[in-house]
Amino acid sequence: MRAVDIIMKKRGSLLNKGGEQLNREEIEFLINGYVNGSIPDYQVSSWLMAVFFNGMSFKETACLTDVMLHSGDSIDLTDLHGPFVDKHSTGGVGDKISLPLAPITAACGLTVPMMSGRALGHTGGTLDKLEAIDGYRVGLEVNEFKSILQKTGFAMTGQTEKIVPADRLLYALRDVTGTVESVPLITASILSKKAAEGSDALVFDVKFGNGAFMKTPEAAQELAESLVKTAQSMGKKSAALLTNMNTPLGMKIGNFLEIEETLDCLEGKGPEDVMELTYALGALMLVLAGKASTEEEGIERCKEAVQSGRAMELFLANVREQGGDDKALLSQRNVRRSPFKRTIEAAQDGFLSIHAYKTGLAGVNLGVGRNRTDEKVCPDAGIILHAREGCFVKKGQLIMEVFGKNEECFTQAIPLLEDALSYSSEKMDPVKLVLKKIL
Ligand code: URA
Repeated sequence: MRAVDIIMKKRGSLLNKGGEQLNREEIEFLINGYVNGSIPDYQVSSWLMAVFFNGMSFKETACLTDVMLHSGDSIDLTDLHGPFVDKHSTGGVGDKISLPLAPITAACGLTVPMMSGRALGHTGGTLDKLEAIDGYRVGLEVNEFKSILQKTGFAMTGQTEKIVPADRLLYALRDVTGTVESVPLITASILSKKAAEGSDALVFDVKFGNGAFMKTPEAAQELAESLVKTAQSMGKKSAALLTNMNTPLGMKIGNFLEIEETLDCLEGKGPEDVMELTYALGALMLVLAGKASTEEEGIERCKEAVQSGRAMELFLANVREQGGDDKALLSQRNVRRSPFKRTIEAAQDGFLSIHAYKTGLAGVNLGVGRNRTDEKVCPDAGIILHAREGCFVKKGQLIMEVFGKNEECFTQAIPLLEDALSYSSEKMDPVKLVLKKIL
């Protein structure tokens, strides 16, 4: 077998423009050859571009996912008590849902193994948020991950070197060859990692809008259907919600700030949109795991987990187990702030809009996120919103408190944030946060 023939088969020709479907042996040859170094970057780049333009059938996508999954180790959870259920979000601005969701669903009887990522580009990352808690460790060994999972019902860690090495290599290559936004490639990338962490059921929060990967609901639906169908073909129960990411989620954006908002949610006092989405995703997880018979019942169970204080107890227990200082966290809550601060006031009267993508980009300048994987984030950088999308604001009214990693960062961040705000004389229809469910 030769890599060039596989590339040409997927590429097609002037007479056969869509290319042809690859079989398992061909996909294995290419992916395993890339991981073991026998097939070079330039051939895999060319193949990725052929997939980008010609797509993959459902069968090819499932096969690529499986081959990538078997490129490394998987976590074996069979000696722990399930059901094991996880949620994956395609990423957004102010999206801290995993943080309240894991303890809430753990308090309802699920076991939630979460292998999360870091901030990249305009979107935030769960691991950076957790590391804003003094002492919290996200680089757990498998045995420690399992032991914490057993004790607190959920555990949060980063991907290890040994889990899905094919994705680490392919993702880096896709990033620099313009081949990220491909439904089969995104599906295989996300699902190979999720399958390796050992969950029996997966719920996807697939975002659409200016702050999302997928800009339109139609594109998000295509990705959601691919994720759900491919996960189901791997024997995992699965469902997805299509959710709006045109405006940031919640009132706080930033690493420590989002931990604070998590504590608010665990007390039942989080912003309405964050509570709504947490309960909607939690209910779906409970239904898939057979712990609730309807989503309405699932929402009630999630609310009880918050009201009883059990979800907060589990969150703080997890903080301690993962090396974090829970007492410092509670004493720093609402007072720990970067000394570098600006405010933004409304430039005119009107109904406010806040653009998620521009806010997220400003966040990168402030130090919330990073443009390169080797950059450091600033735990105390971020934005507190004092008004939400759709509110009527008066000129001069406080809209944002802005915290930066230093004085210099405001030069770029403040104009971006001012540009993220717009004012309309017309009242807008309320944002529909959850657009659709895909089963
Ligand atoms: N997240 C992933 O893990 N992989 C992708 O390809 C895109 C988003």
